[in-house]
Amino acid sequence: MITGATTVAAVIGSPIAHSLSPALHNAAFAAAGADWVYTAFDVAPGDGARALDAMRVLGLGGLSVTMPHKEDVADHVDELDPAAAALRSVNTVARTDEGLLKGYSTDGAGFVASLAEAGVYVTGRSVVVLGAGGAARAVIDAVARAGAASVIVVNRSIDRAEQAVALAGAAGRVGELSDVATADIVVHATPVGMATEEMPLDAALLHAGQVVADLVYHPLETALLAAARAVGATPVDGLGMLVHQAALQQQIWLGSLPDIGVMRAAALRELAARSR
Ligand code: NAP
Repeated sequence: MITGATTVAAVIGSPIAHSLSPALHNAAFAAAGADWVYTAFDVAPGDGARALDAMRVLGLGGLSVTMPHKEDVADHVDELDPAAAALRSVNTVARTDEGLLKGYSTDGAGFVASLAEAGVYVTGRSVVVLGAGGAARAVIDAVARAGAASVIVVNRSIDRAEQAVALAGAAGRVGELSDVATADIVVHATPVGMATEEMPLDAALLHAGQVVADLVYHPLETALLAAARAVGATPVDGLGMLVHQAALQQQIWLGSLPDIGVMRAAALRELAARSR
C-alpha cells in the first residue's frame, strides 16, 4: 500500500506513456517488499535540468532517464560515474549520502550482464557492434571496459562510427559488415527489424559458435535471432539488456540487486498485453 512514507521513483522522457519501466520496477519492488513505487513523467525536451530540481525538491528516491534527456541530465547532475562521464549520457540518477545527485549509465553494464546471464563472457573476445547511436555507444564502452580483445563498429554513417569507436580506445576500429563473419560476438544496435522481418545483415555471414545479440526486443525473436539460431549460433534477445539495466538501477537506489526473473516476467506480461 502507498503511504506517506513510500519512496517515489520515476522515469522521465518524452514520449513516455509506452515505457516498460514502471511494470519492471514496480514488480521488483513488490517482490522485494520494498516500500517504493515507480511512475513515469512526460518531461518536455529541454526540461531535464528542471526535472532534477523537482527530484531534489520532492525528495524522489531515484530517477530513470530516457530520450530526449540523457545528455541534458548528464550536464546538470552533481557527479557522474565513469561510464556516464565517458558517454556524456545518464540513464539513472541517485542521491548520494551528501545529498548530491549522481548520474549513472547502466545500459552498457546491463548489456554485459545480459550476456553473462546467457553464459557469455566478453573478456578476450572479438565483438562487432552494428550501429553507433546511443545504445551502441553504451555497448561499445561497456564491452571495452569488460576486456573485449577487439571492438569493431559498423555503421551507416562513417563519421558517427568514428566518434563511437573512440570509446573502445586501442581495442576499437571502424569496420564493415564482412567483419561479422570473423566475430565471436555480434551485437545489433540499430532499429532494423523492429516490428518487421527485416535483416540488418546477410545471414550467410553468421556461423555456429558465434553469439548474436539483438538489442531490438519487439519482436523478441527477431529475424536476425532466428537466422542465428538456424545456423547454430547463440541468440541473445534485447529484453535481457532492458531488464538488467533496470536491475542495476535498483541496485544503485536500494543497495541490492532485485529478482531478475520477476522483472523479465513483468516485461513479458506487459509486452503480451500490448500485442493483444
Ligand atoms: P539511435 O541513437 O537513434 O541510433 C540508431 C542507430 O541505428 C544509428 O547508428 C543509425 O545509423 C542506425 N540506423 C537507423 N536506421 C537504420 C537503417 N535503416 N539502416 C542502418 N542503420 C540504421 O538509437 P538507439 O537509442 O541507439 O537505439 C537503437 C536500437 O536499440 C533501437 O532498436 C532501440 O529500440 C534499441 N535499444 C534497445 C535497448 C534495450 O534495452 N534492449 C536499449 C536501447 C535501445 P546512422 O548513424 O547512420 O543514422
